[in-house]
Amino acid sequence: MKIIAVGWNYRAHNTEMGRKEECGNPVVFLKPETALLKDGKPLFLPPFSNRIEHEAEIVVRICRVGKNVAPRFAHRYYDALTLGVDFTARDLQQELRQAGAPWELAKGFDGSAAIGTWIPKEELPIETGIDFSLQVNGNTVQTGNTCDMIHSIDNIIAYVSRFFTLKMGDLIYTGTPAGVGPVAIDDHITGYIDNKKVLDFNIK
Ligand code: MG
Repeated sequence: MKIIAVGWNYRAHNTEMGRKEECGNPVVFLKPETALLKDGKPLFLPPFSNRIEHEAEIVVRICRVGKNVAPRFAHRYYDALTLGVDFTARDLQQELRQAGAPWELAKGFDGSAAIGTWIPKEELPIETGIDFSLQVNGNTVQTGNTCDMIHSIDNIIAYVSRFFTLKMGDLIYTGTPAGVGPVAIDDHITGYIDNKKVLDFNIK
């Protein structure tokens, strides 16, 4: 199983991070399987960072093998969605970016890929847009709608499958909207898709 993630996919987030240029293609990176955080397990803050930030993202679950998938067929390659958190060691990421080094250490550490409860895609208004939100200690810190993605789910699947063969159970994190920020020990994280709670865990 592999975890594929897309960066810079919502304009308001790109603006808050000071990114002006827009890429023609999705910005893609990977997380290892050991990054997965599921079933409400806590995230233990790692000792190598002083600033772990939440990035709430719609996550897509791949349901069949796909290579060079055409955008018009991409919808057949995923069967469920949930809300996830692409936890990011922002201080380390900034160091790595300044050094021109890859992001993996800042993005792929243990527990950095939280996922919630799956919702079958038939139950969600994919065409008209899916609302999602993240709360820290009951305060809403991020809200988004999939209509605001720069690269749609179908286009992401088509693009990444040119490089990586998609396999059943692979996950794709589709980028975060504005409002990213740090988490601290004892924070309580909850997340919703269309007012349905799918994420609920603590920071330790
Ligand atoms: Mg992200």
